[in-house]
Amino acid sequence: MLPSDNKSAVQLVVHPAWILPIIPRGEVLSEHSLVVQQGRIAALLPTPEAEQIEAEQHVHLPSQVLMPGLVNAHGHSAMSLLRGVADDAPLLSWLQDHIWPLEAHFVSEEFVADGTDLALAELLLGGTTTLSDMYFFPEVTAQRIQSAGMRAQLVFPIIDVETAWARDSDSCLEKGLALRDDYRDDDLVDVGFGLHATYSVSEATLRKVSTLTNELDAPMQIHLHETRGEVQSAVEATGERPVALLDRLGLLGPRSQCVHMTSLSSEDIQRLVDNNSHVVHCPRSNMKLASGICPVHRLHQAGVNVALGTDGAASNNRLSMLAELQSAALLAKLEQHEATALPAGSALEMATLGGARALGLEDKVGSLEVGKLADMIALDLSGVNTQPLSNIMSQLVYATTGSELTHSWIAGRCLVNEGRLTTLDLNTITARAGRWPEKFRAHQANH
Ligand SMILES: [Zn+2]
Repeated sequence: MLPSDNKSAVQLVVHPAWILPIIPRGEVLSEHSLVVQQGRIAALLPTPEAEQIEAEQHVHLPSQVLMPGLVNAHGHSAMSLLRGVADDAPLLSWLQDHIWPLEAHFVSEEFVADGTDLALAELLLGGTTTLSDMYFFPEVTAQRIQSAGMRAQLVFPIIDVETAWARDSDSCLEKGLALRDDYRDDDLVDVGFGLHATYSVSEATLRKVSTLTNELDAPMQIHLHETRGEVQSAVEATGERPVALLDRLGLLGPRSQCVHMTSLSSEDIQRLVDNNSHVVHCPRSNMKLASGICPVHRLHQAGVNVALGTDGAASNNRLSMLAELQSAALLAKLEQHEATALPAGSALEMATLGGARALGLEDKVGSLEVGKLADMIALDLSGVNTQPLSNIMSQLVYATTGSELTHSWIAGRCLVNEGRLTTLDLNTITARAGRWPEKFRAHQANH
């Protein structure tokens, strides 16, 4: 029951067909309801008892499963505008011949606003409630995320080359630290450091970031070991593997999020274990760019926390965390030649609590436990592709198409209601995004 001395009004009671709380592991509740008070989960109760509660709103979801909102731990939202401009190309050619030239010409506040809105709409409709974002003009991204009402970790980009946002890495740090100050007490937006990669940031800059992140106890995210070629080039040039370089410079720690992590030796994995560092696995981007495979099964066995990310829409090309967790589960089995690798329950935990842990938000979100913020989604499992319901977790991981989402709440605020966005105008967003491909084509034709 609700504590009787708690006088504040009950905001919301949700009565779904099932609740998948993630913690306790493997549990699926039926005939239970979830009570929200002041943005937090106040109770999980048998439905007949919850029906009696006086609340501002009761929501009945007779064919839905209620679960924690999905945490997309790595992405570049604004790159949604570049979806489909350069497909079927390997990473370095994709970056150097296609993406970077377009970014050099087009990235601006307007580009970031239009691309971010498009991404946020897709993310919300796909069940993501928390995202991590690394892109230029993060102050614009932060405003867009605030107006959408989503939860985010923004890792401001740090790269040694001049961009439209900053002339060099010192300027990135100056602007990023100012943004971190601006959002110091924000409920929804956290700001951390986003190192592009060890091949695009000098050791001097890495040292500065190490000092700052350690002083500030701030999150740091980096693309690391994205391809075997990246690791080989580093070893040929310096004799040191990228993850060893970070370890030596004090950049591996409990707030470090290493994105991609393919081509890992046992020694590399031991460094992650010793430093309590996190891995963000982006299976669809890795497959599409033929980058390599992150050994999720071995990382889990070693005790490393693994989160899941879509990466940007230019290399995925979807921002669907359901597609991502399905891909992760399938790829882990193939990589390991072992069908028991990354079972459905573990994949779901990776997409929720694993992401929350990586982003330092595990006390707030990632599971439906009393006291946590009411960041949650409802998925309708009555469709033909998820019937019959032999196993809720299996259907979620292996049978969903991404169109099942009906509701999404962040801290108890409804952002998707019966499949419709409540804070974003989809027609305006797609119209604004639709103006860009013609500009890209004209530019590509002239260069
Ligand atoms: Zn990325």
